[in-house]
Amino acid sequence: MLKKSMQRDEILSYLKSVNTHPTAETIYMEVKKAIPDISLATVYRNLKLLSENGEILELTYGSSSSRFDGNTSPHYHFVCEKCKNVYDIMMDLTDELHSMVTREGYLPYGHRLEFFGVCKDCCQKLKA
Ligand code: ZN
Ligand code: MN
Repeated sequence: MLKKSMQRDEILSYLKSVNTHPTAETIYMEVKKAIPDISLATVYRNLKLLSENGEILELTYGSSSSRFDGNTSPHYHFVCEKCKNVYDIMMDLTDELHSMVTREGYLPYGHRLEFFGVCKDCCQKLKA
């Protein structure tokens, strides 16, 4: 268990209130509205603690900034290569995928699955 912290609670409740998978910089700008003297370093440190503690997910994208997700229930992501938004794909294939892997003799604790391409909005814009 993590020691209680007002700053960390604010970060966590902001992340649980949105489904936009914000970057640390965006989280900092939002949390600053409630806690004006918070620093970006404090935001980074608390995001690290929260993800190590399994309270949030960190979505890493190589050289670009990580995105953070307050929804830790099983779901997948669609990353739009046009608008760079990250969308939730709410389906849970955990049992199916895990049994495929256990049949190969492995013991999976979890998995990651992410789709890349063009989102619905950007598809519409391409057609227009
Ligand atoms: Zn898009
Ligand atoms: Mn998500």
